Amino acid sequence: MPRIPADEALIAGEWRRGAGAPADTVDPATGRVIATVHAVSLDEVAEAARGAAEAAADPRWRDLLPHRRALLLHRVAELIEESTDDLAALQTADTGKALTETRALVGSAAATFRYTAAALETAEEAITPSRGDYVTLSVYEPIGVVGAINPWNSPIASDAQKLAPALAGGNAVLLKPAEWTPLVSLALGRLVTRALDELGLPAGLLSVLTGRGSLVGDAIVRDPHVGKVTFTGGTSTGRTLAHAAAEKLMPLSLELGGKSPTVVLADADVEQALAGVMFGIFSSSGQSCIAGSRLFVARELYEEFVGELVERVRKLRVGPGTDPDTQVAPLVHHRHRDSVAAYVDLAREEGARVLCGGGVPQGPAYRDGAYYLPTVLDGLPNSSRTCQEEIFGPVLVALPFDDEDDLVRQANSSVYGLACGIWTRDHRAAWRIARRVDAGTVWINTYKQFSIATPFGGMKESGLGREKGRDGIRAYQRQKSLYWGVADAPLPWAN
Ligand code: NAD
Repeated sequence: MPRIPADEALIAGEWRRGAGAPADTVDPATGRVIATVHAVSLDEVAEAARGAAEAAADPRWRDLLPHRRALLLHRVAELIEESTDDLAALQTADTGKALTETRALVGSAAATFRYTAAALETAEEAITPSRGDYVTLSVYEPIGVVGAINPWNSPIASDAQKLAPALAGGNAVLLKPAEWTPLVSLALGRLVTRALDELGLPAGLLSVLTGRGSLVGDAIVRDPHVGKVTFTGGTSTGRTLAHAAAEKLMPLSLELGGKSPTVVLADADVEQALAGVMFGIFSSSGQSCIAGSRLFVARELYEEFVGELVERVRKLRVGPGTDPDTQVAPLVHHRHRDSVAAYVDLAREEGARVLCGGGVPQGPAYRDGAYYLPTVLDGLPNSSRTCQEEIFGPVLVALPFDDEDDLVRQANSSVYGLACGIWTRDHRAAWRIARRVDAGTVWINTYKQFSIATPFGGMKESGLGREKGRDGIRAYQRQKSLYWGVADAPLPWAN
């Protein structure tokens, strides 16, 4: 059993039990309660926001030059790396994810802090072309207090993706983890607290506020001290936050849902495409915003490809995240498993053929866990709800296409625009399709690969703004223009 953080939230630099309602967090592989975590109260959100505003304005932080702020990020990266085993085990217990995956997520969180430190030290401000007797400068300043609200699917990686650039930008952060998976964010909070303490920086720079989105999350968004919200989660929640942000005229960035097409052209390397399609949807048990959940296969290859795919999907190993052989781990929560199962029932009502899966695995090993079999469906039009709504589970729906125009029309016929995969040997076709599909990220002959150096975000209802990349820090800053007069004579009009 991993070391469970004490039932304490981080409120304006102080670790203490939240004054709100308790909630159990459950290991979805066994159904056992692993910890009870008290939510913070609305008063405590306000206290954290006040503390964050004071910490952001504290000269120890406000006047710290970028290369010194970078030291904090490097130290957090080191502490994360030193705690890899604990953090990975904790996240596996809380989310159900396979240990191989949670170890990779911990590595990615550390890498995010390191990359952001390097980006911070090398970020340049500009002397812009002057059009008069003055020098013009474009500089960047902190926003002040940033609210960071995350979902349950990859907490440590999504926490790092918000925390690192927000701190790099010179801000204080109020971090809210999802109700189902608060533990690893609380553990990360302990590491950041330690780094702040070692470097003599204000403790209130980070609060980790546990509790329900509609209470704690909402209070963060509406708090007058909060000047920006960065959110990852569902599209309908994102829309609610955008309304609240509009009231304050506050910038926000949104990483939302997806229903991403994976495309197999007739000339694809079939072995590579099979492996890529399966990884794209069934890794993380499909609980991934960029899951390739709609499979489009060229009609002439369709029967052969889907037939072979189904054979292989039947052989995927379903089991607990702690078993190194597991490929498809349990879903995050029994309630979420039931929602995935309800979607497959809906697909049946819509007339789908269930080619494999379509239920919970049988046997005593699976009895108490939130398991669902990897499932392949077909026989539905792209307009069906099954093809249009995000299921966020191990459910793939396959569709044939006739030609490139038909493919692009179907792929783009979705409210989402997060990601796309293309499997082909024809580089010209790959280029044409990649440029025509509405997607923030396109993978060609690969899938679900990520680099912190490459911007990430969605088009259409998949989001607003971009995370990652050298400019990621700028999303957490305010740009300011300076005109510096150098003329010897007074301004002519005043004479
Ligand atoms: P969710 O939208 O229900 O919750 C996300 C977070 O928002 C949680 O912390 C929740 O407590 C909080 N929240 C809920 N209501 C709120 C409100 N009114 N005000 C403020 N905060 C509120 O999403 P989820 O079910 O936790 O996660 C799954 C969703 O996240 C999927 O739709 C998935 O596609 C999306 N996601 C997107 C990305 C991306 O980068 N685009 C990455 C991962 C997950």
